[in-house]
Amino acid sequence: MENRATVNKIIPFSNVDGPGNRLAIFFQGCNIHCVYCHNPETINLCSKCKLCLPGCPTKAIKEDLNNIQFDNKLCVECDQCIKICKSNSSPRTKDYTVDELLAIIEEYKLFIRGITVSGGEPTLKAPFITELFKKVKSIGLTCFVDTNGFFDKEDISELISVTDKFMVDIKAIDNLESLCDTKMSNNIDNLKYLLSLDKVYEVRTVLIEELMDLDNTVDTVANIVKEFPEVIYKLIRVHTEGLREEQKEKIKDKIPSQARMKEVEQRVEAIGVKKVEIIDFPSV
Ligand code: SF4
Ligand code: SF4
Repeated sequence: MENRATVNKIIPFSNVDGPGNRLAIFFQGCNIHCVYCHNPETINLCSKCKLCLPGCPTKAIKEDLNNIQFDNKLCVECDQCIKICKSNSSPRTKDYTVDELLAIIEEYKLFIRGITVSGGEPTLKAPFITELFKKVKSIGLTCFVDTNGFFDKEDISELISVTDKFMVDIKAIDNLESLCDTKMSNNIDNLKYLLSLDKVYEVRTVLIEELMDLDNTVDTVANIVKEFPEVIYKLIRVHTEGLREEQKEKIKDKIPSQARMKEVEQRVEAIGVKKVEIIDFPSV
């Protein structure tokens, strides 16, 4: 197992990453590359190219021989570095050991129900997170994984066994290549597998016109999820928050209308899904 894992950010209290108040850890690195990724700075590891250094208004990023150093105390979170970076990375990441993360979690343990790991794609760090989850569960907290669903279930079997629940993205059923960069045809079998183990808290689909077979995807997922009344199906209207200019260009005329969102919600309910949630963003 790697001793350290690179973390993009830690949010001590989140109420959108699973049930109750949760500490959310966003790991750096992703195995697909979605056209609408709203955390593009979590996709790649920093190559230390130093391109972002001159743009930092507070000198929070400094050259250090062949490396760069980031000073959290100087950072004003203006995100200039992220906008400049051409590698979909961030200089503000930090490497942690399992015990260092556990020490942070313990500071908040009286105020949270559990932790959620996200990304990037957290299953890429399965051995590290398995170790973390074992320790977090020993202090009485629940452990959730927010995944894009593109994993080999044999490779992450131990992580699955120590995870309380997963939150799984289903991007599309067909023609995934227009949405993201993966050789897998789709991840429906992984969803079915996790459902059969009673390991799914929610399933999510980002709705975007033209780039996905929206109706077929939603109907297929709804027909699976309806057999599991406790599982939430979240329908997310694609939005431009956090996107780079080139991403905004690709999606700006493909955002479903509110009437279309309503129509899809009603269809999913008619199929028999008990818990349907529409996620809309005022900025679209
Ligand atoms: S967000 Fe980036 S550019 Fe802005 S102050 Fe922090 S390190 Fe500097
Ligand atoms: S964050 Fe991006 S621009 Fe800055 S040093 Fe790393 S790879 Fe280069």
